[in-house]
Amino acid sequence: MGAVMKNKIQFQKGYSIKELFDNYGTETQCRDALFLWRWPEGYVCEECGDRHHCLLRSRALYQCNRCHHQASLISGTIFASTKLPLTTWFLAIYLITQAKTGLSALALHRQLGVSYNTAWSMKHKIMQVMKEQDDRNVLTGVIQLDDVYWGGEIHGEKPGRGSPNKTPFVAAVSANDQGRPHKMNMNVVAGFRLSEIERWAKRHLDPSCSVVSDGLACFAAVKESGCEHTKIVTGGGPSCVSLEAFTWVNTMIGNVKRSMGGAYHAISHRHLPRYLSEFCYRFNRRFDLTKMLPRFCIAALRTPPMPLRLLKLAEAYG
Ligand SMILES: [Zn+2]
Repeated sequence: MGAVMKNKIQFQKGYSIKELFDNYGTETQCRDALFLWRWPEGYVCEECGDRHHCLLRSRALYQCNRCHHQASLISGTIFASTKLPLTTWFLAIYLITQAKTGLSALALHRQLGVSYNTAWSMKHKIMQVMKEQDDRNVLTGVIQLDDVYWGGEIHGEKPGRGSPNKTPFVAAVSANDQGRPHKMNMNVVAGFRLSEIERWAKRHLDPSCSVVSDGLACFAAVKESGCEHTKIVTGGGPSCVSLEAFTWVNTMIGNVKRSMGGAYHAISHRHLPRYLSEFCYRFNRRFDLTKMLPRFCIAALRTPPMPLRLLKLAEAYG
């Protein structure tokens, strides 16, 4: 990352743990915050849209006066049926969103004083929110695109292209007008095939994108989603032009491998999509650390519940 940008991001006003405890240190503070984020204009019945309701205090339920539908502050959200204090959730969200690199379930278990299984489930629910949120955003502008294998060799020579026991994913970085990295997506794909890259591009790239990739044939499929495509063959010895074209995507791939390799002992291949999203989510929101927690919570309140059974299944392709 360039010096100017690095400084701007590194020296921005952060969000201290003291501020977290001042703002969200009690259950009441957390409840009030979640209420405002979920129903900014006051309670609305999800069944019939009526605003008139009463609060059943004993069970902390809101009941609609018209259709008698009952909802709790967290029903229908990723926090649904949690038995943990909200303060524990807020602290977990704080630690994970503010972490420079990933924070493992084991580290979370130690920091929060909850069981390892509880920490694992919280960690994966939080990453699921990040994934669903990042999947909604499409990249725009000039895109550097590359193919990567998780569990493979260090990127560069690509000796592992097509090897078994490696999970393929695409890394895409968009550049801003100054040619600096802006946003990125990393998504696991079924393989580096034309049909798969077409599917991925239609989901994650705006049709106005101008995509630069190496010579891997399947990348031409981004044209099927309306994007422009420039192929730069890097095989014949490094030239300045070809290296420059992939600077950012190569940097990000290096960062994600280093970050995930350092923070996580072993990442299960079936959960790789969530880990990649966690990394991208933080990167894509790096400009404003103070808004990280509220923005995350608003997204979490819109993310449907995810029972442990589903959380443990392998994730679908990005
Ligand atoms: Zn109702």
